[in-house]
Amino acid sequence: KDFTSDQEVRWCPGCGDYAILAAVRQFMPSLGVKRENTVFVSGIGCSSRFPYYMNTYGMHSIHGRAPAIATGLAVSRPDLSVWVVTGDGDALSIGGNHLIHALRRNVNLKILLFNNRIYGLTKGQYSPTSEQGKITKSTPYGSVDYPFNPVSLALGAEATFVGRALDSDRASLTAVLKAAAEHRGTALVEIFQDCPIFNDGSFDLLRKPDTKDQRLISVTHGEPIRFGPPLDDGKGAYAVVREGFGLGIAKADEVDEADIVVHDQTDHNLAFALSRLSDQDLNHTVVGIFRSVERPTYDDAVRAQVEQAKKDKPADLQALLNGQDTWTVVG
Ligand code: SF4
Repeated sequence: KDFTSDQEVRWCPGCGDYAILAAVRQFMPSLGVKRENTVFVSGIGCSSRFPYYMNTYGMHSIHGRAPAIATGLAVSRPDLSVWVVTGDGDALSIGGNHLIHALRRNVNLKILLFNNRIYGLTKGQYSPTSEQGKITKSTPYGSVDYPFNPVSLALGAEATFVGRALDSDRASLTAVLKAAAEHRGTALVEIFQDCPIFNDGSFDLLRKPDTKDQRLISVTHGEPIRFGPPLDDGKGAYAVVREGFGLGIAKADEVDEADIVVHDQTDHNLAFALSRLSDQDLNHTVVGIFRSVERPTYDDAVRAQVEQAKKDKPADLQALLNGQDTWTVVG
């Protein structure tokens, strides 16, 4: 049986959430995890209706708190595949603290951050990822806030897996989601998601053939980073090169092959520099897997500590479980 629930999907016509839902439903069976061992936890927002539409366990939880609830689940039930679905408002405004702590702890859960750069559910206020100058119902003279870059934020919080994809690009979205699913630890995937009702065309520059060549950079581990319309030899017209401590853009046929940066998803500094290449106008927007490294997970560590405590202090632990105040802290 597939992962499609019997619930009617209730997003606006043309919403990017449909494409993401379709991609997730399609690739989940390939993970080999049973539906009854899969859980989607969401917060509040348009994207947070997601659990209703998956034929798995799910929880439409509290605004911004999905990572905290999912952390408890991941720690107590290591047999489950735990997913968080959140939006730019839910994850980065009210839920910002919960998000960064899940990322630094490296809990074994997958966070899908649907970024439409607007509050959709509450009808079109600017969000923590809205670009400066954006005119919305709550910013009639244009937003003066400097927006979050979710990938930079996640990398700054030492997340062990960070990726980005476009809702409309099924192939690369699926590849990033699959890699996130197979990662042990917290995986954050930012998905650029169109909201045609309140922020129509916000990512069109990354979709339209006449502009995406100049702006979209897709990175693959072990491959030189090239982009743009292909040259006669089939290689990209532009390349990413080292520039001081950061990165720059050069014409591919004007630089030596050795000067072109080769993507390495274990290189934290490179991942951070790639995340900073893009600006608010979506110039040089990198998609793909920025970082994927191994680090012990929080949930494994907690379970190991509980087991150790049971061995070391059985009497004290039993007293604690019984509510008696006889626990002794040593060391
Ligand atoms: Fe999608 Fe925007 Fe409608 Fe929300 S308001 S369902 S994000 S199109």
